[in-house]
Amino acid sequence: MRQPLVAGNWKMNGSRESIKVLLDGIKDGMGEVNRAAVVVCAPYVYLPGVQARLEGTAVEWGAQDLSIEASGAYTGEISAAMLRDFGCGYVIVGHSERRAYHGESDALVAKKYAVARAAGLIPILCVGETLDEREQGITEEVVARQLDALIELEGVAALTDGVIAYEPVWAIGTGKTASPEQAQEVHAFIRGRVAAKDADVAEGVRILYGGSMKPDNAPELISKPDIDGGLIGGASLKPEDFLGICKAAN
Ligand code: PEP
Repeated sequence: MRQPLVAGNWKMNGSRESIKVLLDGIKDGMGEVNRAAVVVCAPYVYLPGVQARLEGTAVEWGAQDLSIEASGAYTGEISAAMLRDFGCGYVIVGHSERRAYHGESDALVAKKYAVARAAGLIPILCVGETLDEREQGITEEVVARQLDALIELEGVAALTDGVIAYEPVWAIGTGKTASPEQAQEVHAFIRGRVAAKDADVAEGVRILYGGSMKPDNAPELISKPDIDGGLIGGASLKPEDFLGICKAAN
């Protein structure tokens, strides 16, 4: 039985004050969330504060990216070991915004996943097609290519206890959600592709949906058999919305 997971991706949002209010609001509502795992992925600079505020609570924390390098002359980069130092449990890799604005390739994203996992972090591997790719009918081809880059580099065992987030790019931050049927179709494809290599890994890997998930559409999406929770952008910045999704996953 896969434990549902809801991860908030704050992106480049927040201030010390707003994060305090957000985290206190989330902590206050966690009494009703006893089954789903809940994670917030914060900007690096706020991680120490997030760690201090969440220590001893059921809410875990993570980062939104990491370096493939271990240490040294890589100005501006943050390593997996540094994230572990701040008690990070999770890290997002290959978010479509990093692929689009920072030119991250499938191979680089696979390497980031591997480095994170080797350090004891749980990487959340983002995959998903653009609108143009969906309209061309190549959604499965794109998602397979993104997934296979990791499987070819590390083997399918790299997905043991791992997390994949299917995030159609056209649904991120646009208010356009994939229908539960559209999302389930791709989630089933991803699980099937993993199962073709290893049925046990496929059974265990959590596949989150991301793309304008909100408290009102979350219950139907998460009720689908291959949707194990959500990666949440905009709605993770409002405690009541984020908690609404956490309760749906619970
Ligand atoms: C995201 O950025 O991962 C995301 C899903 O954003 P939103 O929920 O705002 O669409």
